[in-house]
Amino acid sequence: MAIPQRLERSQQVYRRMSNTIGGLPQYVVNATKEEQIATAMEWASKRNIRIVIKSTGHDFNGRATGAYSLSIWVHNFWNIEHNSDWRIPGSKDTANVLICGGGNNWGSAYIAANEANRSAVGAEDVTVGIGGQLTNGGHGTLSSYHGLSSDHLYQATVITTEGRRLVVNDEQNQDMFWAIRGAGGGVFGVVTELVIKSNPRPENAVSSALTFYARDSSRPMEDAAWAAFAEIVSQFPDLMDAGVTGTVDTMTGQMAKKYLPLPHAVAGPAVSAKIFAFNTTVESMRHKIRKLVNSIEDVSKGNLSILVTEPYSESFWSWGRPEFRSSNFAGSSRVFSGRLLGRAELSDLRREDLDKYLRQILVAEHPDGGNMLRFDLQAGSGPAKVPKRRWASENWYWRKAYVLAMVWGAHVNATEDPSNALNSAIDWYEENQEAVWRKWAPDAGAYLNAANGFSRSWKHDFYGNKYDKLLKIKEKYDPTESLWSHSGVGSEKWKYDLHSGLLCQAGKS
Ligand SMILES: Cc1cc2nc3c(=O)[nH]c(=O)nc-3n(C[C@H](O)[C@H](O)[C@H](O)COP(=O)(O)OP(=O)(O)OC[C@H]3O[C@@H](n4cnc5c(N)ncnc54)[C@H](O)[C@@H]3O)c2cc1C
Repeated sequence: MAIPQRLERSQQVYRRMSNTIGGLPQYVVNATKEEQIATAMEWASKRNIRIVIKSTGHDFNGRATGAYSLSIWVHNFWNIEHNSDWRIPGSKDTANVLICGGGNNWGSAYIAANEANRSAVGAEDVTVGIGGQLTNGGHGTLSSYHGLSSDHLYQATVITTEGRRLVVNDEQNQDMFWAIRGAGGGVFGVVTELVIKSNPRPENAVSSALTFYARDSSRPMEDAAWAAFAEIVSQFPDLMDAGVTGTVDTMTGQMAKKYLPLPHAVAGPAVSAKIFAFNTTVESMRHKIRKLVNSIEDVSKGNLSILVTEPYSESFWSWGRPEFRSSNFAGSSRVFSGRLLGRAELSDLRREDLDKYLRQILVAEHPDGGNMLRFDLQAGSGPAKVPKRRWASENWYWRKAYVLAMVWGAHVNATEDPSNALNSAIDWYEENQEAVWRKWAPDAGAYLNAANGFSRSWKHDFYGNKYDKLLKIKEKYDPTESLWSHSGVGSEKWKYDLHSGLLCQAGKS
């Protein structure tokens, strides 16, 4: 098959630049048609060239790029259509859906849903792409109510590395349909279209916020702040069962001073909770916050500064209308660690153990600089109540978890040799945080899109006992194993040189 002209041109350009492009792809296809993707993938897979797929490039572990690769950019697959009467494959029923091109971000989907008086379960940050978020599970502001983004997929169109175009759903290519609902960004094929279930738009959103920290740097104040932090964490499951969602950020040291902001660094944790609930009243939220504040005051014996934002109600759209700000994360070099945590890890353990784990996980490489731990209150009853027949390759712990926890802590020196900088951060996380999760949450998993892709237990953390089945599906649809992503299914067969980005088959030099 002839190589498309556009691909030939980019080959020539990038070959000339190849000494300077570092970990970036060698060839880029700015695809506008499925046939171009099919032709380019077939061309690359016949030549032993690694293929990577890029939508927005948001991925924290750099899985949308790769040295010496052919990059398929799906950005132009930007179509969105609403259909209130779409027939569900394998069923006589119809559904209210959004039909989205594989290069859309969630903000565009929210706008399309709102125009039809509906809502969609996508990412909290509207610049996140549907492609990478949904194929890896996906949580957001509505997931604790309705389930994961991947639970809402009825059908997708996938182009394989052999150049085949597959429609995947409950009737056709079921194995691929299962694989791309949770374990699948960038490893099974290019998703060019997704049919996503929409939900009724909530009537309103009630918001509130709560911040607390030690009043001075004495030891009793610091202990009081840790006790209050453990108290609020232990209440997450009950709060969420009562309809509360949101994000709770906890910072220590200079980090707290900078981000809250505070006039001086505080002793112990400074907690900032932004919480919401839908289809509810201000009175109901006020009652919940009052109860929370009372319990925090009880355990901390009045030693904390506590600030509460009076709850207020607004329409769902006024609350959630997308603001396409550029992301603060862009261009930064970071590694971080994460886990999905359920009642067992939040509420049902001894309070002194919870207190101990929270202190341990918030350790920082540079203690004065401090650290941050984020809890997204975005699992809970939504993912748990999804009927089992709709579960797929997503991490098994989503069905038990209430929160997604993410923690930072080590500095990655962006000007140093990449392999040295990364290896030093990876070792730090392994020793200081992965080790804590393994004690605190030995049965829990991690969310592929928001955890440490370098963790030594990545296979278990991300895929659990679904891994072998996933590998068989990968080998069936990508027999040349051309699609490769870091900690993706099948990636263990390749040795990845952190310095150059070169891949060579494990066991061969
Ligand atoms: C600022 C920020 C906020 C975030 N907020 C949330 C959040 O609220 N909820 C949440 O769940 N996650 C969130 N994330 C994590 C996000 O889900 C991941 O970064 C995800 O990988 C982004 O997918 P993408 O398609 O935008 O990015 P990309 O980097 O382009 O792609 C990510 C992965 O998916 C693959 N991929 C992308 N598109 C396709 C496609 N069409 N077909 C096949 N493979 C594809 C890529 O190959 C790559 O492996 C956030 C990330 C950032 C940076």
